[in-house]
Amino acid sequence: MNEKIIDGKKVRKEKELKLQEKVMTLKEKLTLVVISIAFDEASQVYIRQKELLAKKIGYNFINLHFDTILEEDLIKEIEKLNEDKNITGIIVQLPLPSYLNKERILNSISPLKDVDGLTNTNFLKLTKKEPSLIPCTPKGIISLLDYYKIALKEKRVVIVGRSELVGLPLFHLLLNKDATVTLCHSKTKNLKQYTKLADILIVAVGKKDLITEDMVKDGVIIIDVGINRVDGKLYGDVDSACFKKARLMTPVPGGVGPMTVISLMENVYLAKKLQEDKLEK
Ligand code: NAD
Repeated sequence: MNEKIIDGKKVRKEKELKLQEKVMTLKEKLTLVVISIAFDEASQVYIRQKELLAKKIGYNFINLHFDTILEEDLIKEIEKLNEDKNITGIIVQLPLPSYLNKERILNSISPLKDVDGLTNTNFLKLTKKEPSLIPCTPKGIISLLDYYKIALKEKRVVIVGRSELVGLPLFHLLLNKDATVTLCHSKTKNLKQYTKLADILIVAVGKKDLITEDMVKDGVIIIDVGINRVDGKLYGDVDSACFKKARLMTPVPGGVGPMTVISLMENVYLAKKLQEDKLEK
């Protein structure tokens, strides 16, 4: 095994065992619902991955699928699930068909059941360091950094990509941990001048080889979130030649990907705890 590799599969396995043990001690079985609309091949693969892991952890898993549905009816379905005491976590599988208002639909999920962490309420809590459900990929990245004991305080972290799913929540999470964070995006001019300075570089764009060897400094730690399928093979956003300069780097596949799905399962458990805390208050 390349000693520079940040091994997401190994960390996920350990987290999986720990979570299974905790779930076994619960009096009732938790239930995760994934709502999907229309057919999307990639989504089917992701839903199947979630189902397999949820069942392995010991959760019930429900895929509520609609070939097509009116926005008002979908919101009513979500509200029913919000009220249902037997449902712990709710996800709306993205992307949604364009006739549906993503923002409105996601925000109709109860923040206490929002295990993808995509409601405005949970985002605001994240920025204010309040206990909340955090988006799964950023949560998984923080877990990886923690596992490898990568200090963040006083470090210069550069994130490339500012999506609501990855880059933006990650920016706040890292800031909360006292890193000095720069957030680059498609309108950033001369990306290299920023990436070159990074002690820790996190790339979430979706462009194969966006980051090349000349754009990073020696000893950098690289977290490659990108998933790019080319001729049936998966690649990240970072050219693998960067391994030469990096102190540590995630591979694609096998780096961030496995952490995203285990973080979702951790969120289901956390959602239950947050719901119980709310009842006690
Ligand atoms: P997105 O399309 O929503 O956002 C992409 C971001 O990249 C935008 O903020 C944009 O400003 C920025 N960008 C585009 N071109 C750029 C350029 N040339 N220079 C700098 N910034 C640029 O994508 P997303 O949902 O954040 O996903 C990003 C990538 O991460 C995709 O490949 C996706 O498949 C992958 N992803 C992986 C996981 C995982 O679990 N491994 C999870 C989520 C997303």
